[in-house]
Amino acid sequence: MTLQASEQTVPPRVVLLDIEGTTLPVSFVHNVLFPYARRHLAALLADRADDPAVAGAVAQISELAPGVPPAEQLARWMDVDAKVEPLKTLQGLCWDAGYRQGELVADLYPDVVPCLRALHAAGVVLAVYSSGSEPAQRLIYGYTEQGDVTSLFSAFFDLRVGGKKEAQSYRHILAETGWQAADVLFLSDVEAELDAAAEAGLRVCQIARAEDGTVVSQRHPVAADIAQALERSGLSGIGQGVGERVGSC
Ligand SMILES: [Mg+2]
Repeated sequence: MTLQASEQTVPPRVVLLDIEGTTLPVSFVHNVLFPYARRHLAALLADRADDPAVAGAVAQISELAPGVPPAEQLARWMDVDAKVEPLKTLQGLCWDAGYRQGELVADLYPDVVPCLRALHAAGVVLAVYSSGSEPAQRLIYGYTEQGDVTSLFSAFFDLRVGGKKEAQSYRHILAETGWQAADVLFLSDVEAELDAAAEAGLRVCQIARAEDGTVVSQRHPVAADIAQALERSGLSGIGQGVGERVGSC
């Protein structure tokens, strides 16, 4: 697409991106990652019982569900999408192996990598803020259909800085990086996350992906993809030629 006149004249210097529903279809998590872990967890427990990470998670399961076979308890948790640490740990190990073996490839939305490359080339700082752990974020961007693109990002933030619907989390990110709130554009599909980021002074734009059935925000700028969000956030104004590069994404 070609960028049009910007709605804001001063472009952001940093673009902070959510993953699920923003750069990666929600369906990838539910239709690919979760079923992959479900198919491989029992084998992981059997094959890597001596791995300290696996043994530690199994010990946690036994504490949380005494007397229940670990594989059975994991299946129960997966049935209800429980956010329990040993399940998350073991799922992470499954996915790590799956990506490294070439069985999993992050199916990012097609506009994402071209836009990220254009932004990076233009000197815009890129960072991730996702509820998935930093190692999980690195796997996603390390194994995309366009190859390993982790080097495009300067920072990866996860729930260690706090929940994504809390303004304080975004203040933590600003404090940690030294970024000025007004220089940062946060992109997410979830309105409550945009509310929190805006409360902390960040610029925000919702990515409303038709494929994901995103509930469109009534309070914030809305874009159908990353390219449109950049257009609406003044990024066509960074230096000569940048608009063309971004526009090609
Ligand atoms: Mg999201």
